[in-house]
Amino acid sequence: MKIGRNDLCTCGSGKKYKVCHMQLPDKPLIDPSIPVNSAIDRRMRENLIKQCVHPNQEECRGEPIKAHSIQNNRILRKLGRNGDLYMVKMVVNETSKRMNPRFKAIGRKKATTFSGFCSHHDKELFQPIEDQDFYGSEHQKFLFSYRAFSFEYHKKAEAAKLHKKNGDDKPSLYTNYEYLGFKEGYDLSTNDNEYTKSLYDEALLSNDYVAVESVEVVLNKEVLFSVSSGFYLEYDLTGEKINDLSNPEARIHPVTLTVFPENKRTIILFSWLRDSSEIYFNFKQQLLGLKVDQLEQILNNMIPSYCENVVYNPDFIDNMNSSNKSDYLKVYSSTTMDYIPSNIKKNLLTATSYTLF
Ligand SMILES: [Zn+2]
Ligand SMILES: [Zn+2]
Repeated sequence: MKIGRNDLCTCGSGKKYKVCHMQLPDKPLIDPSIPVNSAIDRRMRENLIKQCVHPNQEECRGEPIKAHSIQNNRILRKLGRNGDLYMVKMVVNETSKRMNPRFKAIGRKKATTFSGFCSHHDKELFQPIEDQDFYGSEHQKFLFSYRAFSFEYHKKAEAAKLHKKNGDDKPSLYTNYEYLGFKEGYDLSTNDNEYTKSLYDEALLSNDYVAVESVEVVLNKEVLFSVSSGFYLEYDLTGEKINDLSNPEARIHPVTLTVFPENKRTIILFSWLRDSSEIYFNFKQQLLGLKVDQLEQILNNMIPSYCENVVYNPDFIDNMNSSNKSDYLKVYSSTTMDYIPSNIKKNLLTATSYTLF
């Protein structure tokens, strides 16, 4: 990208480039003396945000803790092998420097955690889903959705912070299209994200749990993975657009997905705010009309293409045929890269070699 010395700086300061970011020296973003994946991990760790996202900040007690977004004592314990679970992580190849998704073992204490709740709020707020089995109350369904949304909200804030820090440390990024494109994306989604959060918080503070609408499906078997995730569904099950992520004027409406095994059953919850119920109306009708095998197929595509916060039982993944495993990871790449294999998001019923069920 070519930017003239006298053009306005792309950082948005309103100053000319020559007196703004052009003058600043670049520092290396990651420590070049250690392996690249460790260096990336360290940089991410140094830029975490420790902040309780509960709206009643004056009640906060204690530092933000590593709050689990999936129940630790029951779900993670059940799915773990010697205390470890698998999650998918982007790993940089040391020689080619290319990023690829890989299954990685992660300890139960750390898996699915985020430092987005103080110990008081984490315990008090989620008690009805931490200490009790699922019995389908509006309160429980609200909490699953609230927790999944809070996790994504917090992760997005961390990603935006890290992105900004990268630009501060390496000012030449302000001449890089990819960097500026991401920056614009963060800036645009921030307003929608704050608005969505205000609706969730308003509902929480007034115990208005029906402010979240859910489609609940119960399978009569236990799956070997669990999901707690929030995302912008791009197409419904007939390929009609739901969220237009390319239109900066359009408000975007998130959906949360919760999946967990419990008592020989699997609970699946698709949830969105009542405020988005028109947007998700057709999707809801389509979900309600699905046969079990169709729903499973949709999740086979939806989970790897939209959800990052997923844990798997290590034996389940280790026993998966290696070409099926690599097909699964290929679909997963579309959550973090612009590579969308055979337009899976547009046709979530696409057949897959692997199955999660
Ligand atoms: Zn600047
Ligand atoms: Zn708090």
